[in-house]
Formats: sequence, structure tokens, C-alpha cells
Amino acid sequence: MGFTPLAGTRAPVRVWTDPYGIEPQAAQQLRNIGALPWVQGVAVMPDVHFGKGATVGSVIAMRQAVSPAAVGVDIGCGMSAVRTSLTAADLPDDLAPLRSAIEATIPVGFAKRNDPIDPRRVRGLEQAGWDAFWRRFGTLDRRVAQLESRAQHQLGTLGGGNHFIEVCVEQGGPEDGQVWLMLHSGSRNIGKELAERHIAVARRLPHNVGLPDRDLAVFLAGTPEMDAYRRDLWWAQEYARRNRAVMLALLCGVVRDEFPDVSYGEPISCHHNYVAEETYDGVDVLVTRKGAIRAGQGDLGIIPGSMGTGSYIARGKGNADAYCSASHGAGRRMSRGQAKRTYSTADLVRQTAGVECRKDAGVVDEIPGAYKDITKVMAEQDDLVEVVAHLKQVVCVKG
Ligand code: 5GP
Ligand code: MN
Ligand code: MN
Repeated sequence: MGFTPLAGTRAPVRVWTDPYGIEPQAAQQLRNIGALPWVQGVAVMPDVHFGKGATVGSVIAMRQAVSPAAVGVDIGCGMSAVRTSLTAADLPDDLAPLRSAIEATIPVGFAKRNDPIDPRRVRGLEQAGWDAFWRRFGTLDRRVAQLESRAQHQLGTLGGGNHFIEVCVEQGGPEDGQVWLMLHSGSRNIGKELAERHIAVARRLPHNVGLPDRDLAVFLAGTPEMDAYRRDLWWAQEYARRNRAVMLALLCGVVRDEFPDVSYGEPISCHHNYVAEETYDGVDVLVTRKGAIRAGQGDLGIIPGSMGTGSYIARGKGNADAYCSASHGAGRRMSRGQAKRTYSTADLVRQTAGVECRKDAGVVDEIPGAYKDITKVMAEQDDLVEVVAHLKQVVCVKG
């Protein structure tokens, strides 16, 4: 659909939705970001909404600088998915036992593992360079107590909030009825703790005094604070990627227990809170995607809708105006508090009909109605991605 430039900003801020539809608080954040001297440009995705410091659903390209708050606190949060050889007809009518089996295999919410999982013994992950990965831990800032032990105990766990695991069925197209597995998770408590510590450090740096919003504080290239941040950032992004790979492999194992002959396609994995070094118009920039995925030419990405509306597998079109990005989901239409005031459990039951999932008061804030219309979001970004598959969940395990 193309973008609309936000008026009156120093750096270009390009918006892939109706700018007048953006909540005032989020619009102010975008103007604050556009005013930062280091910013090359900003791409605002159709799922944009208010977030701490920087909006969720924003892509910020900076020269020689990075803002840790523009990455989000769950460093490396993202999605993984894989197509299975099963079709909907293979699935049993009662999906409750499958949901229970998933919940019994992957701890959700704040649960961790009493005995850390040994990923070298998880089928498919044996050769993934785990020893080298854990050795790299030695370069991390150790001021956070017992970080390594916590990282090991939380590996292969989902986390709370709207992290989720789903079994989905493809809708329409040549692969109609094909079953997919999908999950949403990040770097758990470790990435959050690292992110919050670095955000606090950045706020105190002299070059950040006088910023329109202290939470937008940046690190500058060539400083020890930037070096320390990048080390921790790299590690947390890699930990998140591995955490999802472990859980996806476990999920494949749960399904294999029931269907021994099942086979799987090539897994797809994409971060939606992270930093990458990229080049646009010959300029090297640090791109933060906070609630946005990379959508370079041909890149496969995952764009979830809500616990009742399904999701999309998308292929990037490499639109440089958007710094080769797309939305990370439908995005919230209202806060959790507002969702709880607006909807009842009866609404939740209606809006999740046909999905084997929790339907109690504890997840009303995740009701589909609290999210934007994913169909509209996809239409608004049809110049950023093309749809590869439309999926509808039949099982949803919430964090
Ligand atoms: P976030 O990373 O910002 O927490 O959320 C990512 C996106 O996932 C949300 O914007 C929303 O569109 C989508 N989403 C949230 N919960 C669910 C769910 O249970 N299932 C699916 N398929 N999508 C969800
Ligand atoms: Mn996320
Ligand atoms: Mn997350």
C-alpha cells in the first residue's frame, strides 16, 4: 500500500498505516525518535503501538549509535515455525491430550527447569555448537548474579505473557490443510535483565542529557559502553535463537511420539526485537527492529495475528524504504488493562471458538479483540511482504 511520511521530523519517518490512526502517545514517540541526531530514518510498521522509550512496530536506522530501549527488553524475542507432513485429517477430534502433552514437555509462564536440558541430546540439535556457545559466556558482564546458571535452567522454556506455542492448519492454496508448528519466545529473563541494565547505563551517559525522552538514550560507536552492550546483545540474541530451536525440536518430538512417521520441512526462525548491521544507500547503519521482522528480498518471516485469528508465513520483498522490514504481528489495539475492562470470559470463549486453549479470566487480556485486524495489517504492508501461507491455529498454549 506504500507509506505516508510523518510531517515535521528531521530524519524521515515513514509510516505503513494511516498516521492519524496512531495513538497520540506513540506518535509523540515517533517524533522524538525522528529528532535524534544519530537517526538516518525510521520505518513504522502497520502494527505500531506505544512502547517504553520507542514504539513497538518500529524500525530505526542509526549511524554509529544504537538505543537499547529501541530493541525492546526481551532481546531476541521472535518466532519459529515448521511445516509438518501431517494434514488436518490426521489430527484427532479431541486436541486436549495434544495440548497437555505440549504443556508437559515445555515449561510455560515463569517456570524454569529444575534440571537444565542438555540440548546436545535433543534430536536434531546435537551438532549445533553448544560448547562453543556456552564458552562465549565468559565474555559477558558478570555483574548479574548467577546469570549463567539461570540461562541454563531457562533454556527450553517459553516464558509468560503472550509467548505461545501453536499447532496450526494451512488455509487455502496448494498446501491447504497442512499442519504447522509454531512458537513465540525470546531470551527469557536473562535478556531482560541485560537490557534493563544497559538502558540504565545509557541514561547516565553525558551525551544523552537533554534528549526529548531519557529512555531513548543511545550508546555511541567506539565507546566501552557500546562494546559491552554489543557483547551482551549478541549473546542474548543467540540465546533467544537457540532457545526457540530447542523448543521447536521438543515440539517436533511431542508430535513424533503420536505420529512416528511424521517428517518436517526446513524450520523458519525470525527475531522481532533485535539489532543488525546493514547498509542502505552506501551508508552503514545499525538497524533496530522492535516489534518488526527483517523482510529482505526472499527472506521468510512469521507474522502472527492473535490466539484466535491465525498467522501468516511471509516472504520479504526487500523494500529499502522500509529498511527491508515488515510487521511482527497484528499489534495491540488496546492495553492489557483496557482489554480486561472491555471483555469477559464469555467473549473469550466466542473469539477462540475451535481453538484448544485456555479460556479463563487469566488470558482475557490476550483476547483476539485486543489486537488489530491482522487482515488489514497484511494489506497495509503488501509492498513489504507477500503471503506464503495463511495459518489458523487449532491448539494454542499461552505462556
Ligand atoms: P509481541 O512480541 O509484541 O509480544 O507480540 C507479537 C504479536 O503476536 C502480537 O502483536 C500479536 O499480533 C500476536 N499474538 C499475540 N498472541 C498470540 C497468540 O496466542 N497466537 C498468535 N498466533 N498470535 C499472537
Ligand atoms: Mn515477541
Ligand atoms: Mn518476548
